[in-house]
Amino acid sequence: MPLYEYRCPTCDHRFEVLQRLGDDASGLACPACGAARVDKQLSTFAARGASSGGDAFASAGCGRPACGTGFT
Ligand SMILES: [Zn+2]
Repeated sequence: MPLYEYRCPTCDHRFEVLQRLGDDASGLACPACGAARVDKQLSTFAARGASSGGDAFASAGCGRPACGTGFT
């Protein structure tokens, strides 16, 4: 499930929401001030993965138990 970043135009608070593909901002409210209208920002998921520790995202199994792939 992709992580989307939203910004509240009322108080400038930024927050992230896990949403299904295609979901929009309807039903979301700013967690800081409660404003019903929030603006969707470009997803930071890809950029974050590439800028820091991108290899952890790229490799299917990173060897750490936390990944789930190292279990058995
Ligand atoms: Zn707000």
